[in-house]
Amino acid sequence: MSDTIAAIATGGVVSAIGIVRISGGQAIAAADRIFRPVNGMKLSGAENRRMYYGSLFGTDGGLIDLCLCTISRGPESYTGEDTVEFHCHGSPVVLSETLRALFSLGVRQAGAGEFTKRAFLNGRMDLTQAEAVIDLIEAESPAGAQNAAGQLRGAVGLRLEGVYSSLLGIMAHFHAVLDYPDEDIGDFRITGYLPALRNAEDELARMLSTHGRGRILREGIPTVIIGRPNTGKSSLLNALLGYDRAIVTSIAGTTRDTIEERIFFGGVLLRLIDTAGLRKTYSTIETLGVQRTLSALGNAGLVILVLDGSEPLRDEDYEALRSIPSGVPRIAAVNKSDLPCLIRADELSALQTGYCSISALTGEGLDALEAAVEVLYPGSETPPAGELISNARQAEAISRAKLSISIAIEAINANITPDAVLTDIESALSAIGEVTGKIMREDVISRIFERFCVGK
Ligand code: GDP
Repeated sequence: MSDTIAAIATGGVVSAIGIVRISGGQAIAAADRIFRPVNGMKLSGAENRRMYYGSLFGTDGGLIDLCLCTISRGPESYTGEDTVEFHCHGSPVVLSETLRALFSLGVRQAGAGEFTKRAFLNGRMDLTQAEAVIDLIEAESPAGAQNAAGQLRGAVGLRLEGVYSSLLGIMAHFHAVLDYPDEDIGDFRITGYLPALRNAEDELARMLSTHGRGRILREGIPTVIIGRPNTGKSSLLNALLGYDRAIVTSIAGTTRDTIEERIFFGGVLLRLIDTAGLRKTYSTIETLGVQRTLSALGNAGLVILVLDGSEPLRDEDYEALRSIPSGVPRIAAVNKSDLPCLIRADELSALQTGYCSISALTGEGLDALEAAVEVLYPGSETPPAGELISNARQAEAISRAKLSISIAIEAINANITPDAVLTDIESALSAIGEVTGKIMREDVISRIFERFCVGK
């Protein structure tokens, strides 16, 4: 039996309610020693998942709090073990005193993600669901949260299970014929399994094709704001964020480094990157800034080119436009619309990029910019229900599985012996097993749960 762990499950700030969680074989007994329900009963006799109001006592027997307590007996609990939760007043002192009392009874502090790791190890969830827990906690957009919630319900695992069991069926048939030649088992003809393999390959391809959208949902679109100095890039970043994040001055070259902030804009999460202005410079620091701008452009999913509408277009504006890698969606934001516009409409059309007129100073036109983003990255009409693969680890293993199946199909078409084909099917099975956690690699498992917060 694993030892008993406890942690504060809520944030470390003063709040209305704070929760201490305990999990393990001694959870209920330890809680019984420090909590007394008002009706005087023992927690060991308490009903599952019912709230009991009572008194919580510290190590010295002094009253810490009047709070609620609920128990969930394993295996039907989050971790699969006996668990207890104290819903206390949200004082960091109350919560840490509760932990101290538990530690004096032999309970130990839980590590990062240890509750969810136990849930996984005890078979309460597969690895994709465990990863969805952290994605749900860290979701930065409603759609991202919805997708993670769908994955928590098992959307990824379920789809993979179908592929896994069809591949397993092929292996089982082959081995059954080999191991029990006298039994009346239908002949094994690998060519008969071609349709099943193609279906499996298609299903994995469909899953992989969602990874682009899934990544955007989870990580946001790297959006680079570029333009020659003083066009209003930092002002635009501040206007979009709604507070002064970047320094705004009329001295060209003030922003020398790149600044990154996240906002939910036009229905998508943008990772806004304000850059040093692109211009020829002799300053070493500024040169480094320009280099970083160029490297940010290399990874951009969207570029906002800021032009100063109060001045005619200059060579540097055209240079900035040319620095955008081909194929990267871009929008020209013609800034300073509160001043007379000195750029002609035909010049703007000639830039061959969608444009909108804005004023970072007054906020005018930001709704048009938002609409332009939405046109480039339309959100899905139906909210994602977990079908978007948002996790790079999962995508990598799924693509390995798909590759193995493709090789198996090619091998069948080339009349290679079934046992060689089955080696590829076995590789596909093990790659899928890695995604769901059926096949465990200790280093991978540790890395996944290290990302969690303590108490989850
Ligand atoms: P950056 O070098 O491109 O980041 O430009 P800044 O954001 O630092 O702005 C340069 C100058 O333009 C500052 O003096 C800003 O106050 C001014 N500015 C920025 N946006 C606007 C705008 O929409 N209208 C006007 N009139 N001035 C602006």
